[in-house]
Amino acid sequence: MQLFDVAIVGGGPAGSSCGAFCAMAGLQSLVLDREKFPREKVCGDCLNPSCWPVLERLTLVDRVRDLPHSKLCSVEFIAIDGRGVIVDLPSGADCEISVKRSLFDDLLLRRARELGADVREQITVSGISRNGDWKIETASGQTFQARMLIGADGRNSTVAHLCNLLPRPARERVALQAHIPRPRDFGNRIVLQFLREGYSGQASVNETQLNLCLVGTPPTISTLRKWAERQFQLPADQGWRTITPLTRSPVPSAHENLFFVGDAARVVEPFTGEGIYYALRSGELAAQAVAKIVHGENRQLALRNFTRAYSGMYRGRLWINRLAREAVLRPQLGSLFVHAARVNPAILKLLTAKIVSSNSHHSERSEA
Ligand SMILES: Cc1cc2nc3c(=O)[nH]c(=O)nc-3n(C[C@H](O)[C@H](O)[C@H](O)COP(=O)(O)OP(=O)(O)OC[C@H]3O[C@@H](n4cnc5c(N)ncnc54)[C@H](O)[C@@H]3O)c2cc1C
Repeated sequence: MQLFDVAIVGGGPAGSSCGAFCAMAGLQSLVLDREKFPREKVCGDCLNPSCWPVLERLTLVDRVRDLPHSKLCSVEFIAIDGRGVIVDLPSGADCEISVKRSLFDDLLLRRARELGADVREQITVSGISRNGDWKIETASGQTFQARMLIGADGRNSTVAHLCNLLPRPARERVALQAHIPRPRDFGNRIVLQFLREGYSGQASVNETQLNLCLVGTPPTISTLRKWAERQFQLPADQGWRTITPLTRSPVPSAHENLFFVGDAARVVEPFTGEGIYYALRSGELAAQAVAKIVHGENRQLALRNFTRAYSGMYRGRLWINRLAREAVLRPQLGSLFVHAARVNPAILKLLTAKIVSSNSHHSERSEA
């Protein structure tokens, strides 16, 4: 049986990025995903500008821009009573865009394959064991062997579960998502709308389609769905994709010969639309650490550098995400904030600028 340097479970942004960077570093890399790509994913489809530098290092910027997408010009926050405030988003080449995950994730996975990663789709990992190297078992009975293992398998990570590391989310919320016909005059904007039962995110993803997300609790989600059916004149049999939990406690990222990246490691409140960036960047950081370890460099130093760069990725960003979570867990409070911003938009503009500024990545190379 072939012994891979690294096996990556999950071929979403985190796994594809990790697989691509591992392959670039000359490692024998295996990426396993249970789905057949292209596949859709419950997501707001918005790419934070911080993603551009990682995409640049993957030589993917032009190919992402060639995908059908929307350049997002503004974000409108709407309170429960329907009153709102609009904040402009930065314009220019590395602005925030929205692109369907079926297209974006497929491109990333293809890039990993082009760079030399062995990508296997429709393979569900069901068991792992370690006796020196990792042995990876799959639902179809195939087994794989690798020196290093990466859990990039999302918020309900099987790898974390199999390692007894997956935290149990307490009374969590649920999200619904669909692509629906874009209402005329919607424009290239994001709408973040507080509703009595939770919130809705809306973003134009191309000329004709709107990404619609609803976030609520299991008892209230059907009320939100009915609201959406009325608001957007949707048929009663509208198909929805669903996901839970919305947030949970993090799983430590670095272990002996094992890393967790993307949502498998840390799930952030989706309201601020940063999860894809964390997935891409943590995949890159884990690849750098794995390459150093496999190439025989000082393991402790590689792990220390990884840990520093990994926490640096979140530094100065997580507090805004926590603030957003407070607002969405209490939509009345979020609405009050929107009302306050209608009088004085300075704070909301500042927070938005902090989330969508591409400044945070300037230190990326030195941190790694
Ligand atoms: C409602 C909502 C809206 C969001 N909106 C945004 C947004 O606008 N912008 C943004 O940046 N982020 C957003 N996010 C967050 C974003 O979707 C995630 O952070 C991102 O998908 C994480 O990427 P990942 O690669 O870690 O995991 P995923 O994208 O979940 O990929 C994990 C992969 O692992 C595979 N997998 C799982 N288990 C197994 C197994 N046992 N064997 C093999 N393969 C397996 C899955 O098939 C999947 O392809 C949103 C999230 C939600 C819930």
